[in-house]
Amino acid sequence: MSLWRKIRKTGRVAEPAPERPTGEAPPEAAELRGSVQFRHVDAGSCSGCEVEIGSAFGPVYDAERYGARLVASPRHADALLVTGPVTRNMEVPLRRTYEAVPQPRLVIAVGDCARDCGVFAGAYGVAGAVGDVVPVDAEVPGCPPEPEAIVAALRRLTGR
Ligand code: SF4
Repeated sequence: MSLWRKIRKTGRVAEPAPERPTGEAPPEAAELRGSVQFRHVDAGSCSGCEVEIGSAFGPVYDAERYGARLVASPRHADALLVTGPVTRNMEVPLRRTYEAVPQPRLVIAVGDCARDCGVFAGAYGVAGAVGDVVPVDAEVPGCPPEPEAIVAALRRLTGR
């Protein structure tokens, strides 16, 4: 009972929905409008980006209210959310995961490491940025990017 009391006392914690973000969405997103399922792939991240993705899908930023949902299998996904520079050990798994997503498929590179290897550029274990391994349709800059920026990128794909 104390849990129910706490829930009632806490009330709604989600931030008010901001205006729909401006900016171009990739043309493939038109076929997925309204509801986009994302498979997250950590290609070699320090986990900082994962904390922010967790916040983006948590109760405060609540990305699901805009039609974005995380799924457990690339075969159930419309798009990949990739973090980190691509390590040598993750190069083939990332490519295989990409190929397992049904078409039309999209890729969002989340964080500076995913965009251009960030602070890990030149490291011996890094194969390259996400765009060096699979085609990237959208990028979210930042180290790590703020949850608001991640949610805005997701909303550009869902169109909501
Ligand atoms: S962008 Fe920053 S937070 Fe994200 S994986 Fe790279 S170092 Fe970590």
